[in-house]
Amino acid sequence: MNKIAPLYVAYPPRNAVIKNGLPGLFIYGALSNARAGLKINGIKAHVYKTGAYIAYIPARAGNFDFKLEFDDGKKQHAYTHPVFIEMPPPPQRLLAEYKKTAVVTREGCRPRPTPQSGKNLPDTYLTGAVEITGETADFYRLRLTDGKIAWAEKDFFSVPQKRKTPQNRIKNISVREEPAKTLIKIENTRRVSFTARERKNSFDISLYYSGGAAVKVFYKKGQILWGCNYKWRSNDLIFEFYHQPLLPAADAAKPLKGLKVFLDPGHSPKQIYAGESKPSPHGLWEYKFNYKIALAARRALAVLGARVILSKTLAEQMPLQLRAQKAKDSGAHIFISLHNNSWPDNVNPLKRKNGSEIYYYHPHSAALARAIDASYARNIPLPSEGVKHGDFYVLRNTPQIPAVLIENAYISLPQHEELLMKPSFIKRLADAITGGVLGFFKHKNN
Ligand SMILES: [Zn+2]
Repeated sequence: MNKIAPLYVAYPPRNAVIKNGLPGLFIYGALSNARAGLKINGIKAHVYKTGAYIAYIPARAGNFDFKLEFDDGKKQHAYTHPVFIEMPPPPQRLLAEYKKTAVVTREGCRPRPTPQSGKNLPDTYLTGAVEITGETADFYRLRLTDGKIAWAEKDFFSVPQKRKTPQNRIKNISVREEPAKTLIKIENTRRVSFTARERKNSFDISLYYSGGAAVKVFYKKGQILWGCNYKWRSNDLIFEFYHQPLLPAADAAKPLKGLKVFLDPGHSPKQIYAGESKPSPHGLWEYKFNYKIALAARRALAVLGARVILSKTLAEQMPLQLRAQKAKDSGAHIFISLHNNSWPDNVNPLKRKNGSEIYYYHPHSAALARAIDASYARNIPLPSEGVKHGDFYVLRNTPQIPAVLIENAYISLPQHEELLMKPSFIKRLADAITGGVLGFFKHKNN
């Protein structure tokens, strides 16, 4: 543990500007004397035997002071810890309505169902020219054909004068089989936005501004979709459907022989953006815990015969793009990102079940997430918060293989910090990950 002053506040940082701090905020840190009673704004904080404390404090917008008072047996201490809480932004109002054409100028545009929505539409890919029918301060309203409405950030578009949204015509559709994948090529007269939706028995593609064109790809009997990617080659839209990899016959001692696992310990020593992750109550950073778990998981997986590739070393600074790219270049069969959790600022951590969360993004990754979740439920003494759909960069951008992100425990929670400090708990996490991978492949081979 870090050496601490009589009172250390790990989060929120002093003078932090908090966007989402109403109706209350959690605060946590550590006391050098675990027996000193601590009150924050008159509310008794939970202090644990490690000295770590946490409390949830009702707050109001503007300048807001946490007043921390404690008695170490000798004297009474009082500290003020100021933050600034922003008012929630007003909803985005529709400023104008019209019918124009906008052109997508760069990649990465993520449409959403409403300007207010925090979530993006998972299956809609924007490119080329689109029809826009209105705008708010920051968003255009898009009309995709079949009447579908979506909203997207303005700075991804240019709006040329007086242009009609061009229509596309599909010229040809062809299928090519390769050992590792099946390719579907849709030849178009121009590039257009589309939706691509993985379903249980088929893969459904709808092209916008193409006369209502839809393509339904059925999987072969007994085949599962291992992964799927798309790319444009001039005006041709090419989908790659990856087959389940053929692994060498496993033996009893090495049941994961031939399997390549990409492990991605989350975060880097320097945070890429402020608030990327939070420290533990004693001021330890998430990337170190994630890395410890990755090393232990690498060992446990290797014992069963798997080859493990790590995205980074402990000290390396690693952006998300590079993590996804490295996973692709490595030829790994599955991708697992390792993290530890915290909450949005205004959540009351004392009033919720805090456990492990297993995230996937593309539907073909759900089975791996479920297998890992089942293994966590069996092996980890924390409640399972279950399998969840999560729009994380590293999951979205590793579509060629099953990819999951594990939030192992809550780094911000004193009891979980204490667990994460124990090598025995790290080992249990590693065994739970390995058990999940094993369960996934057993199921696949039956
Ligand atoms: Zn994280």
